[in-house]
Amino acid sequence: MSAGSAAELFRRTFGRDPDGIFSAPGRVNLIGEHTDYNGGLVLPFAIDARAQLAAGRGDSSKVRIVSAQKPGEVVTVAPADIEPGAPAAAGWPGYLLGSFWAVRQTGRPLEPLDLVLDSQVPSGAGLSSSAAVECATVLAVSALAGYRFDPLTVARLAQRAENDFVGVPCGPMDQTASAAAADGAVLLFDTRAGTVENIPFDPAAHGLAILVIDTRVAHSLADGEYGRRRASCERAADVLGIRQLRDVPFSGLPAALDRLPDPELRRRVRHVVTENERVARTVALLRAGRIVEIGDLLTASHASLRDDYDVSCPELDLAVDTALAAGALGARMTGGGFGGSVIALVPAGRIDTVGAAVTAAFADHGWTAPVLRSVTPAQGARRDA
Ligand code: ADP
Ligand code: MG
Repeated sequence: MSAGSAAELFRRTFGRDPDGIFSAPGRVNLIGEHTDYNGGLVLPFAIDARAQLAAGRGDSSKVRIVSAQKPGEVVTVAPADIEPGAPAAAGWPGYLLGSFWAVRQTGRPLEPLDLVLDSQVPSGAGLSSSAAVECATVLAVSALAGYRFDPLTVARLAQRAENDFVGVPCGPMDQTASAAAADGAVLLFDTRAGTVENIPFDPAAHGLAILVIDTRVAHSLADGEYGRRRASCERAADVLGIRQLRDVPFSGLPAALDRLPDPELRRRVRHVVTENERVARTVALLRAGRIVEIGDLLTASHASLRDDYDVSCPELDLAVDTALAAGALGARMTGGGFGGSVIALVPAGRIDTVGAAVTAAFADHGWTAPVLRSVTPAQGARRDA
């Protein structure tokens, strides 16, 4: 990223220097899918693509926002009008205004601000551009007002912006990764305990790379099916008399399955419980420096999401199968499913081969070319200047 791009646009737009520059990264989930709303474990990492925000205390009575990715628009809102459901909340400005609102909801008075966003996180590619924008904004708004939140608080406020202001019912993973991940690490996030731990993760040191394959498809059933999966998990927890599926330990899976009459519900539970176990095993391997061996766990995660959780789709399956056939050590869909991206663990020297194989396979099917990105674990939200 060009270091000063947001600051430069700030100067051009408002004719003065910003008071601070903040940034927050996108994220990709290494493993632990559809576990976060079950109180389970997730293992995302922040990526080396960031949303950068130049911020200045307002010289008007309004909050003004600009995005380099939305050229020509200067959104101007009176602070009193920054409320969920207000006209200003609609569309992309809602992600920034919602973050302003979420900080104000903590009872802290906020002054008008000028905010200029320039993000390298592609939007809608499964890399959580929204969390990057929210975390950078929460950090900027609070810092300029003289408050300092710890990373988990930044994440919680950013999630509140997305849930209660933008109106997207996302879980806590994206914002937590963007706010709390460390450079060269994956973030073990125990969603039940609300605790995080950074585990060193340096694929390059092992001659490996992480390839993200954006299938460019977003199947329309995603939203409804997501809600149905959540409801199934809640129903299963009810039948089992537990709070969340997290309460089924891996060793207790056979007994839990015996108590579930519905075959579909059994498969859903089997995914969630085995996925938590795969996260734990991945962490154990990473702690032991055995990164090469996590590939099988990634691939097993995909099979479970495909066969037990029914959230894959032909494009995701083809990307996974082709990547594996071309030399990836492991590959899986990442994100909610029904489109979005695949993450593959690949020997660094085979990145191009794997990418070319997937591109060719998509072309054979007459599908839109996938977008390939090599990502490395990077630092979470921070003040840059
Ligand atoms: P993602 O998976 O990328 O998070 P979302 O739909 O959750 O996808 O969030 C994408 C939305 O976030 C965009 O449609 C836009 O409203 C907002 N957004 C992300 N990046 C920018 C940006 N650079 N400028 C303006 N809005 C942005
Ligand atoms: Mg998002």
